[in-house]
Amino acid sequence: MMNIRSILLISLVCLLSGFISSSAQTANWLPELTETWEPVPKSVNPAPYFNPPSDAIQLFDENYLNKWEDADKWNFEDGVLTVEPGTGGIRTMEAYSSVQLFMEWRIPENVDGDDQRRGNSGIFLQGLYEVQILDSYNNTTYTNGQAGSVYKQYPPMVNASLPPGQWQSYHIIFNAPVFAEDGNLARPAYLTVFHNGILIQNHVEVKGPTIYTGLPQYELHPYKMPIFIQGSRHEISFRNMWIREI
Ligand code: MG
Repeated sequence: MMNIRSILLISLVCLLSGFISSSAQTANWLPELTETWEPVPKSVNPAPYFNPPSDAIQLFDENYLNKWEDADKWNFEDGVLTVEPGTGGIRTMEAYSSVQLFMEWRIPENVDGDDQRRGNSGIFLQGLYEVQILDSYNNTTYTNGQAGSVYKQYPPMVNASLPPGQWQSYHIIFNAPVFAEDGNLARPAYLTVFHNGILIQNHVEVKGPTIYTGLPQYELHPYKMPIFIQGSRHEISFRNMWIREI
């Protein structure tokens, strides 16, 4: 069920969209215009993790500094890479197109804040298309910004979140967008995501690069691009991130 707030916002968006045809013209929008709050995805109990298959590349082993640009600013111990708050994100040295990607992440047990200010990170496929990382165990925010959302585009089908302090996993299948020779979009990107083993995004059509304000719009970019992990003001940890090109 939608509340009055959602209905009013959607009405406003519809009204505005009659006059505005491209994201370039949405520069003055408020971020709230692209937030959805209801219906809230129901909670389900999660399932186990995956070890890397033999042909996967492990991105968080002892050679991680050769695989991530600028990653020495974060803290690495026993295969666990932990964000040093305030230092920004990290990017893979290697560029990728379509991938199968698995990763484990952990929000610190003592996380504070609420809404989007509670363990906010994210995994950006090709550095552009974000699957949101957030503590969504007991934390209300706009649904298309909670853990497992394709940020500002699709809420997760269910909320498979575990409490802060516990390891959680994403298993992602990303089909990169295809651009025609003239630079126009020939085929959009698609995302499938399992959160803690539960399907939460089922081959959703990505609407364009993740943006905070306004509507996304595709722009020509290279066939292969590095993967980006967003920094955070919280000490979020990552481990067992492996990748297979598809
Ligand atoms: Mg994020």
